[in-house]
Amino acid sequence: MRLLGPPGALQDFWAANHDAPWLLAHPYRSQLDLNRTIPIFIHGDDAESHRRRSFMVVSWGSLLVSGCSPFDSNMLVFAGDNAQCLHETYNVLNCWLCWSLTELLLGTFLDVDPFGSPIQRAGPGGRQVAGGWKAVLACHKGDEAYLQKAYNMVTTWNSESVCWRCGASKGANTELVYTTHGPNAPHRETLLDTAAFIEQVCRENPFVRLPGFHIDLLQNDWLHCVDLAIVPECAGSVPCCHRTCV
Ligand SMILES: [Zn+2]
Repeated sequence: MRLLGPPGALQDFWAANHDAPWLLAHPYRSQLDLNRTIPIFIHGDDAESHRRRSFMVVSWGSLLVSGCSPFDSNMLVFAGDNAQCLHETYNVLNCWLCWSLTELLLGTFLDVDPFGSPIQRAGPGGRQVAGGWKAVLACHKGDEAYLQKAYNMVTTWNSESVCWRCGASKGANTELVYTTHGPNAPHRETLLDTAAFIEQVCRENPFVRLPGFHIDLLQNDWLHCVDLAIVPECAGSVPCCHRTCV
């Protein structure tokens, strides 16, 4: 299992991120030795399969590893058949995921399960998970649909408020309309902080109860934002531009 990456990757990562707002605000920051703490990501996305069956695939890995296939660096958390799994199914799976992330954060096994029942977890090595090493969630990434499900969001791309990060609106008669771009776009002044995100955008979900949850941990998947959205839009405009040139 690859977690540490090349020599120096751990030190380089924390040198670049030691003053990140999510880390400064983390309630366990003072208990983390960054020389023995691995920053990890959770990634979720739907994958279509045979006869258009759709599976939600959630994986995790280390942010220190790069330059190799995801098959060598990403590890499966769960894959759910969307035709068979209810919201409650994923909610329970996410409860176990957040419980496991809490164990990695503490570096020791818990003695109760996510629902408060006693559980025997300590292995032959004792109560430590990885010999004093810890891991902290530094990135929670996915496409829009995955993030909406994971955080049980009230906003969708069809709702009046179209963005989980700011007050951008679909309404044509508001200055917050999302199609107003540019550095001075009014919706840039309406970025939500962590508390506002939890209060205004989320319904109940386990991720916001994870110690150290911060809105900066959420990221839209680059593939969905750029490769599947911006690039096709721009590519469609290229022939038009070229026709205008000639
Ligand atoms: Zn926004």
